[in-house]
Amino acid sequence: MKGHPAATSPLPTLVFMPPQSPRGTPIPIPAPAKPKETPNLDSTASASAPKSTLPKLRLEIRDLNHDGAQTFLTAVIASKALHKAVQSVLSLLYQSPDSPTTTAPPTRSVTLIMRSMPGVAYTTGSDLDGDHKEIHFSLDYIHSSVSNDRKAHEIMGVLTHEMVHCYQYNAKGTCPGGLIEGIADWVRLHAELSPPHWKKEATGKWDAGYQHTGYFLDYLEKRFGEGLIRRLNEKLRIERYEEKRFWTELCGRPVEQLWGDYGDALKKEKKKVEDDECVLVDREDAATPTNKDAKDIETTAGK
Ligand SMILES: [Zn+2]
Repeated sequence: MKGHPAATSPLPTLVFMPPQSPRGTPIPIPAPAKPKETPNLDSTASASAPKSTLPKLRLEIRDLNHDGAQTFLTAVIASKALHKAVQSVLSLLYQSPDSPTTTAPPTRSVTLIMRSMPGVAYTTGSDLDGDHKEIHFSLDYIHSSVSNDRKAHEIMGVLTHEMVHCYQYNAKGTCPGGLIEGIADWVRLHAELSPPHWKKEATGKWDAGYQHTGYFLDYLEKRFGEGLIRRLNEKLRIERYEEKRFWTELCGRPVEQLWGDYGDALKKEKKKVEDDECVLVDREDAATPTNKDAKDIETTAGK
């Protein structure tokens, strides 16, 4: 129980002393009036999940004097940002009328710890137990490595990615790390929080992780139907990961074959974009047959 001295040494008994009147008679303190029920202004946030399904959400800013602390507090409303990240993860990985059999893990609290550190962010179980999660997020990264117009979007993107780690399964510790990271970026992609530098590519290995694997999962979901990634996550809950059996049961063929299909699909997609650009340039030619300058501009813009 590192860092929890209360577990070994008893706490002193706390004695509450009410204020005394001059004669020593206690002055009764009126109970605070019950606040009136306030209307919920953020109706979209509460519509998709009842409050009781949400974990306790906590925020710790380790250095308020760090420039990144001000950046963070200005860019987002922390309570709403965390709430929204949980909602995105639950709705994309669990809550669906089509997948009533998925079971979200019993995550009881998520603490966002904003602190100075190298890298971007990571998620870990807390000292208490695995049901209490900590997201560590770099103040240096937010302050220095993200342009001003993208700060809120990037904070939400990173938070959503890390929140997936608070709620996803890992096949009892046997799932490849690249698939874990791919699922996290698939959720980020579907929460419409992908950063501008992301791109689809089918080079290298399917489980290289992050958006590389995230876009592959997106292809699989489009091909095999909505809910595939929820079913994938559910398989990671109930069984250990044996690659051949896992993918054959989920998609009817081994993952290498699916990865090859994905490469072919991307080539087709790329060719279609190029053909469309050619059509655009041809049309421009026909409309302005004598205007060479106009044609050159269109050709350049289409690249
Ligand atoms: Zn991650």
